[in-house]
Amino acid sequence: MDVPRVRIAPSPTGDPHVGTAYVALFNYAWARRQGGQFILRIDDTDRTRYQSKSEESIFRALRWLGLDWDEGPDVGGPCAPYRQSERQEIYQERVRELLARGAAYRCFCTAERLGELRQRQKERKEHLGYDGLCRTLDPEEAARRADVEGEVHVVRLRVPSGGSTVFRDELRGEITVANAEIDDQVLMKSDGFPTYHLANVVDDIAFGITEVVRAEEWLISTPKHVLLARAFDAPVPRYFHVPLLRNRDHSKISKRKNPVSLDWFRSEGYLPEALLNFLALMGWGTGDGEEVFGLDRFEREFRLEDISLGAPVFDLEKLEWLNGQYLRKLTAAELYERLRIEKMLPAGADEAGLARILPVIVERLHRLTDVAEMAGWYFGEPAHFPVGDLCPPKQQLADAAPILRESRNALAHLARFDAPSIETALEDVRVRLEVKKPQLFMPMRVALTGRKDSPGIHEVLLVLGPERSEARLTAALARVEEASGGAAS
Ligand code: GLU
Repeated sequence: MDVPRVRIAPSPTGDPHVGTAYVALFNYAWARRQGGQFILRIDDTDRTRYQSKSEESIFRALRWLGLDWDEGPDVGGPCAPYRQSERQEIYQERVRELLARGAAYRCFCTAERLGELRQRQKERKEHLGYDGLCRTLDPEEAARRADVEGEVHVVRLRVPSGGSTVFRDELRGEITVANAEIDDQVLMKSDGFPTYHLANVVDDIAFGITEVVRAEEWLISTPKHVLLARAFDAPVPRYFHVPLLRNRDHSKISKRKNPVSLDWFRSEGYLPEALLNFLALMGWGTGDGEEVFGLDRFEREFRLEDISLGAPVFDLEKLEWLNGQYLRKLTAAELYERLRIEKMLPAGADEAGLARILPVIVERLHRLTDVAEMAGWYFGEPAHFPVGDLCPPKQQLADAAPILRESRNALAHLARFDAPSIETALEDVRVRLEVKKPQLFMPMRVALTGRKDSPGIHEVLLVLGPERSEARLTAALARVEEASGGAAS
């Protein structure tokens, strides 16, 4: 078998899409496994939807994921240029070739005529598509009208009029489409720009693409691509159309129902390795059912033939769970580095401090952003909270005063500030004040961390140490006393 040359061909039309990463992952892994090349091509022929910053953000997002390409617009390669907008002359030349072979023809039909045709076909519930009026024009006459008269025209693919087109999708088997159902596709628009179909096939041939691994939505265009490749006498690549990612309601994944921008996942604190693992699971599974696996294992074991054809539902909760798994694998130094790069370090955080607080919060971490959220109180003062948060459950705010005062005093008298001593001291306070554990712990928790949810109170005290704990309990006590008019003191 040839060494694979595979590609992705994203269009720079907006934020880098999670679907691009999904398809890139399969292409990348396949190329790596087989020692082939993974190519990044930029499909930017649709100038109406083009966004200049989009290309750069596609590069950045794919690099963040670690899906590096061997050839592409920014790294070059033997088939450069890799941006379709820079390949116009190649397409022009290839179209002339198709015209000369009779595999394509010039069409002079006006937009008005085509509009009427479409309307009529709709009314009669006929198959929509070009009716072939210009197919029979004399090619020399058509060339003269185009080149000498400068008449506006497009170039269309001459789909054979009878019979059918047969091709293979490697995941689905042989597919037969009646030629009557394949439209005489426009290959070159009237402005001289190629359509996606032409540019795509010309480039896949020029780049020596062996396997086209792309989203299922392109399956419907594949007969046209196969006809085109054959018209060029070029080998037809092996096609693998991977199932689309889906919203919970099984519709195609969309912005309205799911986050789809790779930049979003990054800014929300997802790890690239977790997102890759998650995307791999959408179309593949390990033989042993293990769900947490790295890119290295995926590269080793993945085969294109094993892509599953289910309709993978994009389940953010699953991703969140996976992300937690990967976060817990990081050492404090690694985590610190990730947070630093993503500018998500809690204010005032240093590596040693992170190493101390990490064991206390690690079990509840789901995203990088959780660190600042859950440990901000450790590196700085607790975030400002309403005094009412100090109110013990089912009690009055004033009842928080003895709780805070007694626990502060008890802790201040400890000979050793360690877990067993803290536990005994607080239990004594609880029994003396005749309160339940949540009634004791809630005001303390808020006083110490500014949060209603936090790690266990003993852990919080231990990691803060005696002085900081005392200061916070005192400050909270003062607020309670002030708010309850000193009644409780
Ligand atoms: N530009 C197309 C896309 O955005 C490429 C489709 C293909 O891979 O052929 O998905």
